Amino acid sequence: MSEIELSTEVRNFLNQRHDHFIGGAQHPNNGSATIAVVNPANGKTIAEVPNAGSTEADAAVTAAREGFQAWRRVSPAQREIILRALADRIEANRETLAQIETSQSGKTIQMARAFEVDQAVLFLRYYAGWAQRINGQTMQPSIPSMNQEQYAAFTRREPLGVVIGIIPWNFSLMIAIWKLASALVTGNSVIIKPSEYTPLTMLKLAELATDVGLPDGALNVVTGGGELGQTLLEHEGSDKVSFTGSIPTGRQVGSTAMKSDLTRVTLELGGKNPMGFLPDVDTDKAADGIIEAGFLHSGQICAAAENFFVHRSRFDELMEKLSQRLNQFKIGSPMDETTDFGPVSNAEHHEKLASFFQQATDHGNTIVHGGHTLDQPGYYVEPTVFIAKSIDDPLATHETFGPIATFLPYDDEDELIAYMNHGPYGLAASLWTENISAAMRLIPEIQAGTVWVNMHTILDPTVPFGGVKSSGIGREFGDAFIDDFTELKSVMIRY
Ligand code: NDP
Repeated sequence: MSEIELSTEVRNFLNQRHDHFIGGAQHPNNGSATIAVVNPANGKTIAEVPNAGSTEADAAVTAAREGFQAWRRVSPAQREIILRALADRIEANRETLAQIETSQSGKTIQMARAFEVDQAVLFLRYYAGWAQRINGQTMQPSIPSMNQEQYAAFTRREPLGVVIGIIPWNFSLMIAIWKLASALVTGNSVIIKPSEYTPLTMLKLAELATDVGLPDGALNVVTGGGELGQTLLEHEGSDKVSFTGSIPTGRQVGSTAMKSDLTRVTLELGGKNPMGFLPDVDTDKAADGIIEAGFLHSGQICAAAENFFVHRSRFDELMEKLSQRLNQFKIGSPMDETTDFGPVSNAEHHEKLASFFQQATDHGNTIVHGGHTLDQPGYYVEPTVFIAKSIDDPLATHETFGPIATFLPYDDEDELIAYMNHGPYGLAASLWTENISAAMRLIPEIQAGTVWVNMHTILDPTVPFGGVKSSGIGREFGDAFIDDFTELKSVMIRY
């Protein structure tokens, strides 16, 4: 094992006192309450962050309202320059941010570099590129003219005001960038509330953002638990919430937002994403695809696959190839550059996954691989493959958000479609086949916000992303985010 050493900068950062970032400056907590941030690789506390109450929520919204008035007047060209400067700053601090992320989330260091930080930079630059391209339309009204008067009309895209970005623990920087970049490029100010498990990368980002040209209060970061998220979105000064997290919390966020003055809301929620393997599938490609889709970041990715439906004629062959690959997996410290599989992100999630293992054993599901937590310090579990007895098995119907792949054979296309659409989820799905006609025939039948063919999980900023059914409301990326982060104002002129 060859773990990398934390840099001096990261060690100093972890040991320093942490404050909120409000109105362009460090903002100490009113009270002394703190939240311990724990390294999932060994269960040890690595930092304490302040636990904000209503005083800090008030301060953040007040600062964000002031920041909004300044930021909305900044020209689109200048907004683009500033967001690009922030992206450059993140890129220049890639290793620092990656080491902080691995320390707080257990994500392997290679993944923290290549996904968390590099993708954050890629997405931020993509959003920056929209700054000068957010336009309304002109219309030609047909209102009858009595006295030679004429009419003109156009629409404007205007910012909403103060956006609250509520972030889960699985991608603490990248998902926060989706929120803050969408908000800022459209002229809103933003308050980010990271997950209490993984607040440190955002606090580091706030340090990096201090002198890139953002007006004070345009970007704010407050740390705390779920109650803080609720307090922020109930605040009369908040105009929108962009939330990524679980379905139960998402429902609560949506209903709170509606009750508090129809606060605008985007919800990116969980999934039980299926992969469907057609009879002609190339099982080598499929086995590699399953590793990528089901086990990357221990399955703690909203778009990861959890249900795997394989044509009965290819089932045993694919199981065999998958087992061979999983046997080669190296489970270990996430700070070791050769590790494939690190710990899961926190103790509660570790317990939840243990209960899924128990449930499968109690239910009599066949265990093809894994099925246990590891008896060692930290929150390690085995990558696991179960075979379901039916589509109604608990394991085939509940999101585990972990490295648990549930397989079920199917016999014909109708059964495959029914399996893929089973349950309340509809975030993403994939089809695996060399037969493009079959794939094209099936795509319209699948209830999911994204359908991939011969790929899974990989997101691109140009392609809209979001859920159908209970997996969410609204879309991120592409140009779809503009609708969600602006109001459309219609202007009519008689002349
Ligand atoms: P949670 O829903 O538990 O929490 C998400 C965020 O909401 C956290 O910051 C949490 O704070 C906060 N929160 C909790 N309660 C409230 C409340 N009442 N009002 C406002 N905010 C609140 O999700 P997890 O963090 O456990 O993340 C995992 C879930 O996220 C999975 O279900 C996964 O599928 C989903 N997800 C969806 C994605 C998508 O794009 N569709 C992407 C990534 C994850 P705190 O944690 O500090 O308590």
